[in-house]
Amino acid sequence: MRLLLVEDEQKVASFIKKGLEEEGYAVDHAADGETGLAMGLDGLHDLFILDINLPKLDGLGILKELRRKKITAPVLLLTVRATIEDKVIGLDTGADDYLPKPFSFQELLARVRALLRRNADTRQPILQVADLSLDPATRQVQRGGERIELTSKEFTLLDYFMRNQGRVLTRAMIAEHGWDYGFETTTNVIDVYINYLRKKIDDRREPKLLHTVRGVGYVLKEE
Ligand code: CA
Repeated sequence: MRLLLVEDEQKVASFIKKGLEEEGYAVDHAADGETGLAMGLDGLHDLFILDINLPKLDGLGILKELRRKKITAPVLLLTVRATIEDKVIGLDTGADDYLPKPFSFQELLARVRALLRRNADTRQPILQVADLSLDPATRQVQRGGERIELTSKEFTLLDYFMRNQGRVLTRAMIAEHGWDYGFETTTNVIDVYINYLRKKIDDRREPKLLHTVRGVGYVLKEE
């Protein structure tokens, strides 16, 4: 389980990180909202712990953007401003739980466990096209029973294709889905990544699954 903690107070951050690591979780930490969002958009985390008051971009801003990008991992918000109004805004924005500061580590741990458990219960089904399968929960990809190792970017692309199998995806759609803003997304970059992905899933295998639709984009389908 990999968690992302976005908290600008160094003391609080190291207290949470150290505690959770002792419990066996991998914990990434960012000290401001922009860095936190960029890390969160990698889609590698099973849970987010977001402080609300943060430099550059606040916790609610991060949350909103994660949900807009269809990142569904549970979010626990930390705040000193735990007014009713804040809670409502946080939950409306897509937070799963709320923890007012100060809190004990045991309380935080209990919430983290509950959120991860709840998420495991609503585990998404394995995606399948021909003999290619992708498990969104474990991030495992296999073809013909053989494990395929993908980079985070390749995984994001394949996940997107598999959720839209049989549908032609334009380069603009792929760019919008797979890249953070600020990234120089030239057509060329997308083609390069698609080629990496295609090599891994289609090379020396039949039938080919990832097809080029000339002048339009790409489609994942059998034959
Ligand atoms: Ca803060």
